[in-house]
Amino acid sequence: AKAQGRNNFQFYAAEMNAHAGERIALTGKLRRALKNDEFVLQFQPQVDIGSMQVVGAEALIRWHHPQMGLVPPAKFIPLAEETGIIVPIGEWVLRAACLQARAWLERGLPPVRMSVNLSACQFRKEGLAGLVARTVEACGLDPAFLELELTESMLMDDPNSAIATMRELKAVGVRLSLDDFGTGYSSLNRLKGFPIDALKIDRSFVRDITTDRTDAAITAAVVSLAHSLGLTVVAEGVEDAGQLECLRQHGCDEMQGYFFSRPLSAEPFAALLRTGAVC
Ligand code: C2E
Ligand code: CA
Ligand code: CA
Ligand code: CA
Repeated sequence: AKAQGRNNFQFYAAEMNAHAGERIALTGKLRRALKNDEFVLQFQPQVDIGSMQVVGAEALIRWHHPQMGLVPPAKFIPLAEETGIIVPIGEWVLRAACLQARAWLERGLPPVRMSVNLSACQFRKEGLAGLVARTVEACGLDPAFLELELTESMLMDDPNSAIATMRELKAVGVRLSLDDFGTGYSSLNRLKGFPIDALKIDRSFVRDITTDRTDAAITAAVVSLAHSLGLTVVAEGVEDAGQLECLRQHGCDEMQGYFFSRPLSAEPFAALLRTGAVC
């Protein structure tokens, strides 16, 4: 049994090393990817439920790897967060999104909000509001067009310092939204203390909204609470007309999902903006 245990230990140790090795290699690749400009943004439209017009774009990062092709964020964002390399990547995203928003405005396309996902590392790092202020300024973008998406877990670790950071960001003039709402542990009661403008209902509630009474009831409750706090409610992951109808009945303000459009590269997104409505 002892020998067996030792063998197991060696096995696990070897596996851990391989794992660590891979992680170090990937981190190096991410660093190089930044230097070689291998990251690209795609944009997914956010649609107003009343007018069916595109009112926003969520910027979503992809890694255009020379051999692997287009790598989705799930494959590298978690590790990038652990190692902190998400900070320079996040700065690149912020700048690229602001430049794109400005470029669309300059072409005379209908103005839309640009939403950018922030990671926990970025949010905790000293000087975020200053960075955001300098970036919008350098890109010539009115901060009112920029929205930063935060998640509940970012706010719950240390709610008081999170609120202080959010106030600094609000003072810069950007919008703040709470992403993946419903998946974290924030009590509805805490919401009123956060200086946010919008709440994004997580896709896991939207998925079964037409068949699951509980999900429908939660959505209805969230919408009514959010509205009483003056927040805009955005539903994520809308994939069919049934979900759209249900969300409309529940009073949701905006929607985002494959039913309208998958995330698009900048040019197809501009074409969509030119035509206006999505349906
Ligand atoms: P998220 O912020 O919740 O973004 C929404 C994700 O849902 C996107 O996946 C989008 O393509 C996908 N989605 C949109 N509509 C639908 C739908 O109708 N059905 C389904 N099944 N999925 C839909 P994506 O682009 O793979 O991004 C995954 C996650 O990676 C994002 O989740 C976000 O947490 C993270 N991420 C993406 N870009 C960035 C970034 O620039 N910075 C940071 N920190 N995280 C990012
Ligand atoms: Ca998001
Ligand atoms: Ca989300
Ligand atoms: Ca989600």
